[in-house]
Amino acid sequence: MEITLLLVAIFIYITWMAKEYRMRHADYVPGIDDWINHYLVDLTYYQDLSEPGKTRFRQRTRIIYNKKNFKGIHGLKVTKEMKVRLSASITQLTYGYSEFEIPHFDEIWIFPKVFYHPVHKANMKGFTAPNGTIAVSWPDYLHGYQVEDDNYNLGLHELAHALHVNNSHSVDNKYFRRHFKIWSERSLTDFYDLRSGHNSFLRKYGGNNFHEFFAVCVEHFFESPKAFYKRMPNLYIRTCILLAQNPLNTAGDFAFEPEDITTMDRNITQ
Ligand SMILES: [Zn+2]
Repeated sequence: MEITLLLVAIFIYITWMAKEYRMRHADYVPGIDDWINHYLVDLTYYQDLSEPGKTRFRQRTRIIYNKKNFKGIHGLKVTKEMKVRLSASITQLTYGYSEFEIPHFDEIWIFPKVFYHPVHKANMKGFTAPNGTIAVSWPDYLHGYQVEDDNYNLGLHELAHALHVNNSHSVDNKYFRRHFKIWSERSLTDFYDLRSGHNSFLRKYGGNNFHEFFAVCVEHFFESPKAFYKRMPNLYIRTCILLAQNPLNTAGDFAFEPEDITTMDRNITQ
């Protein structure tokens, strides 16, 4: 009996080690960790992580880097920097989840500037198509991170749409699906307040429809979490639960624990 238990324990340990090994070495490209460190030197989110947090961030970023198909449009040459930065945006948005890849979206199109979309008959900075394509204008994507607190972040905005659309495919993130339903039901009043002009904090664009409301909330969540929590604490906390992270918890790798709320209250009033 004891030998059986011992064998089971050894088996579990070996399985766990194998999973860890695959996670660390999956799709490893020589030098990729150096590029990630190099290109993300100005990404505050990454820089605020602890060393183990940074290691986890790099592991995920390089898995995404290798899985997504990055395409330059209108003759744009895709660079390592573009791939690293866009992969890192996905890692940032899904850092709280165990299912972090947004797998339905396997194509990322990069445009050299704002582009004309023949179906929408409009100039666009980006879009997310249900067939699994995310598109961004590269200078506008970069601008989203260069100004960190203006609540405009094209990359996170389009990825929020992707996370939401991914939800209706078989490769969905079960945690997100369960919690998005709750988040939506409880946030409807906030959406209608914004739509009818009774909200002076969130960008008005979020009032266009509920999809845009979620994407705009995600932008505010990462760009100005302190103001978000101060102005709309319930929506902020609901979003922490939905994304399984808390951008105000810079000391704890953005983990969200319900007991953080007391600490957050203290920090906000300081
Ligand atoms: Zn949008």
